[in-house]
Amino acid sequence: AQSSYATRNPSSAKAYERATDHLPGGGTRSSIFIHPFPLFIEKGEGCELTDLDGHVYKDFVSDFTSGIYGKSNPLIREAIVTALDNGLQLGAHSTSEAHLASLLCARFPSLDLVRFANSGTEANILAITTSLRYTKRKNVVVFEDGYHGSVLSHFELGGANDGGEHDMKVPFDYLVCPYNNILETERLIKQHAAEIGAILVEPMLGAGGCIPGDVDFLRYLRRIATEIDAVLIFDEVQTARLSTGGRQKLLDIIPDMTTLGKFFGGGFAFGAFGGKGDIMQMFDARSPHAVSHGGTFNNSPLTMAAGAVAAEKILTEEALAELNALGDWLRDSVNEAFNSKSLPFKMTGLGSLNQIHCTLPSKLASAGLTLLFYKLLEKGYWIAQRGLISLSFAISREDVEGFVEAVIASAQEVAKL
Ligand code: PMP
Repeated sequence: AQSSYATRNPSSAKAYERATDHLPGGGTRSSIFIHPFPLFIEKGEGCELTDLDGHVYKDFVSDFTSGIYGKSNPLIREAIVTALDNGLQLGAHSTSEAHLASLLCARFPSLDLVRFANSGTEANILAITTSLRYTKRKNVVVFEDGYHGSVLSHFELGGANDGGEHDMKVPFDYLVCPYNNILETERLIKQHAAEIGAILVEPMLGAGGCIPGDVDFLRYLRRIATEIDAVLIFDEVQTARLSTGGRQKLLDIIPDMTTLGKFFGGGFAFGAFGGKGDIMQMFDARSPHAVSHGGTFNNSPLTMAAGAVAAEKILTEEALAELNALGDWLRDSVNEAFNSKSLPFKMTGLGSLNQIHCTLPSKLASAGLTLLFYKLLEKGYWIAQRGLISLSFAISREDVEGFVEAVIASAQEVAKL
């Protein structure tokens, strides 16, 4: 499968070769690399991507969940063009910044006050430092297979990154607990309770394989954080799309702080962190003791405008419910086929966020998943090589039906080998 992939894509191979002259590994996002060389995409429209050799793929990655709008949403385009007419970077406070903040605070039960940044990574770093400053403590609880951003994985952060030779981790004051394991988490937290300033958790592991957090586990974290006076932070960078107010609203578990990113910038670089007024007011510039937090592009007019129109007109309750129902249908349909045909795959996730896993023993599992990925590419479907499947509004019910058939057929081909 890999050699037919290489033969089918000579232009990408050549472009990749040239890119490696100046970029180590030919790119700047390790997560999107494909062996033996990645496809170079020239154009995106709706839910379709066209590569340099002219192949067209239906995009079921949606840029690792951030591309929820598809490649060409007219409302976002119009908002960007209008903002552009008022000037690129203004370097000043703006009403569009306050408007996006008001929309986010109205959506997420935990957000009294919010601040913007340029990535989910930054949002998490800022939420951690804010919590530690607030509690005057040093230790942050994180979870195995959690992922909170690329720079953070360079610290001792559990992480979808495995801590092996591929990770550039340095020790830090993190306490890594097992996800969805209340007993062991409790044992570890109780040992360090007085030093713990924050508990940072994804309501569903994203990069760690779309593994939903058990409701009891998340409720336990809420309880223990209150008990030991630590700040509970929900990283909803991915799960924010599960309802208008993320998974916290669905489960009615309200953290002290929340981090956001990806699609709330309307397709531009974005991060946000916020929470209780008590905590966030440390940034109030009117106070002589205000904590400083800068960032040239924190309130970029294009991002603010695109994010606001998205929050108001696209990420509506009905639209999100429909998208997530479509994702649930997708997952149920393929799992039913995997089971009834005894195929060595399963899909986990919630709503429009899903992940295919190969259930063969571990060495074969990664080969099985890679093979499935190549088989789907040949059929014109683009998923993440590591198995992530994330829907966008540009994907129709018919697209998903076609995709389900292609996944089942590909899984059967893999199982035969
Ligand atoms: N948190 C989670 C849960 C994520 O999935 C990601 C990105 N995949 C991040 C944080 C980091 O966001 P960014 O890539 O914008 O830095």
